Amino acid sequence: MRILLVEDEEYMAQAVAQVLEKNNYAVDLAYDGEYGLDCGLSGIYDLIILDVMLPGCSGLEILKTLRREGIAVPVLLLTARSETADKVTGMDLGADDYLTKPFEMQELLARLRVLARRKPDISAQSGFTFGDILLNPYTLSLYCGSQSFKLTLKESQLLEMLMDARGGVVSKSRIIEKVWGFDSEAEDRHVEVYISFLRKKLKALGANTFVETVRGMGYALRTGKE
Ligand code: CA
Repeated sequence: MRILLVEDEEYMAQAVAQVLEKNNYAVDLAYDGEYGLDCGLSGIYDLIILDVMLPGCSGLEILKTLRREGIAVPVLLLTARSETADKVTGMDLGADDYLTKPFEMQELLARLRVLARRKPDISAQSGFTFGDILLNPYTLSLYCGSQSFKLTLKESQLLEMLMDARGGVVSKSRIIEKVWGFDSEAEDRHVEVYISFLRKKLKALGANTFVETVRGMGYALRTGKE
């Protein structure tokens, strides 16, 4: 799962990012509103944590623009204790939750798990399913029948994207943006390597689900015989 954290207090943002990464989230940081908005508009995030008071463009303006552009990603607002009016405005603009600073990391993690569960097809217990496989993105575990494998974070994110597409084609450029990050210098061959890792693990599990290469377009999950 990829999270965008827009927060101008750099030291705090980095501390939060570190804890999120330990909990198997991929995190991109934006320290000002304009860059935060650019990142958010890429549409690659599963969750966005948005500070309200930001230089450049406020968290509320970012939220308004994202919703106007039809980006429905769950947004958690970070507000200062004195900003009660912002909470109300934020919820009206389509924020999904808010947290008042300072907050406990455990509370942030719990809120994020609730927000992530609002995505279709995922619950904290079961994870994503497709065909005969089940992926738990929090523990990076891939299950098929009674067998299971640990995935790396990138493998899990890649598989999650394919599962989310429900058999639709996912392009290599989209995979690079989402798995390696906005602004990354990863290339197509990196994606090919990770696709081959995933294929090996699916095969070793005896899964009836496989990754098909759709020539010139990208990859899709299929069930049945390869
Ligand atoms: Ca701030």
